[in-house]
Amino acid sequence: MTDVCLLCTTATSELEMNPNFQPTNSRRKFIRTAALGAGSLLTTGLAGQSTKSISSGIDKRYGVALVGLGQYAMGELAPALQFTKNAHLTGFASGTEEKRVHYGSQYKVPASNIYNYADFDQIATNEDIDIIYVVLPNSMHAEYTIRAAEAGKHVICEKPLGLDVAECDRMIDVCEANGVTLNVGYRLHFEPHHQVVAHLGETHSLGAPSYMRAECCQVIGDPNQWRLKKALAGGGAVYDIGIYCIQAARYAMNAEPVAVTAQEFKTDPVKFAEVDETVTFQLEFPSGVVANSTCSYNTHGHTLRVVYSKNNDTLDLENAFYYRNISGFINGRLMDNIRPVNQQAAQIDAICDSISTGTDSGVSGREGRQDMKIIGALYESIGIDGKRVSIS
Ligand code: NAD
Repeated sequence: MTDVCLLCTTATSELEMNPNFQPTNSRRKFIRTAALGAGSLLTTGLAGQSTKSISSGIDKRYGVALVGLGQYAMGELAPALQFTKNAHLTGFASGTEEKRVHYGSQYKVPASNIYNYADFDQIATNEDIDIIYVVLPNSMHAEYTIRAAEAGKHVICEKPLGLDVAECDRMIDVCEANGVTLNVGYRLHFEPHHQVVAHLGETHSLGAPSYMRAECCQVIGDPNQWRLKKALAGGGAVYDIGIYCIQAARYAMNAEPVAVTAQEFKTDPVKFAEVDETVTFQLEFPSGVVANSTCSYNTHGHTLRVVYSKNNDTLDLENAFYYRNISGFINGRLMDNIRPVNQQAAQIDAICDSISTGTDSGVSGREGRQDMKIIGALYESIGIDGKRVSIS
């Protein structure tokens, strides 16, 4: 496909297929450093924390059905579900007959567990399916989350959770009313480098963050893809990948922004007629510290830097938001004791663990709603020439 994102073009098949990834355990927000060992992180105060394996009270594996069999579902999630300990792939829903037949055969999913969009609601009576994972274009997230919840199934919905806060509220409310959980596909909460960032934000072991900078930029291909159509995508780079910078800022600071400013730039007004191409934005935190970010659909860059106040220590992530091959540096020195994980498998396992134990996964629907609130403020700022917009 031409609309490949750079997040997925750095495949390391050895890692992707490695069944020995270290799963992380999630209670509330991040469980710190689950995949860390001792060594060069001694200076961060992270050494000595145990590597816990997951799954306190799970007595069965949750059956997961993927809805929307596109690039992310079939390139990442279905393979990851071959390595999950708390979940397995038991169903599909797709509007395309060819995909239903092909993937059903490839993953040995019986025809009775494969749905189209018209008969999707019959999934309610399917006991093989406990969780529905919505991997459709953004404008379809709300409809399929709500239908899944009304069918009595737990939901994992891809990011961004909805198109706006009102939609997120409806999704959260319907899930609550039906007694099912709603989680967002935020995989980086379960990635060990990002867990270090969150840990340092929580503990201030290097001092409070004094600055953060993030770039999540990728050149988007096919000019006809849904990501360029406002009605299907909601917005452009901000909705799709700027959201990673927002997430990173929130866990790096362990706080919520109180105000934003944002500026939009276009080099290709034809291709990006309906959605934003490049946006720079600043999130202002209660301490006055700013997180400065750039997201773009028309250039390249995947970095994260956090500076800490005690000794002006720096933490840098390269390939910061990739599925694989993230590397981290503290004061320029490689954090070489971090074991890679299969992010999607770790995410799904942790969500299942949270469902089973009734605990907060750290990536609940409310997390997704908060990001939508911030995204709304960013667009509001763009609409008033980058002026400051407070977030209540
Ligand atoms: P994709 O275009 O590859 O797949 C979308 C799927 O939806 C396709 O199977 C397509 O057939 C189906 N579809 C149904 N109705 C459609 C319509 N009207 N128009 C277009 N497609 C339609 O997209 P993707 O990259 O797999 O993204 C799907 C979702 O996953 C998005 O919400 C995206 O934000 C999210 N995503 C998340 C990550 C992550 O790292 N968490 C990465 C990539 C994508």
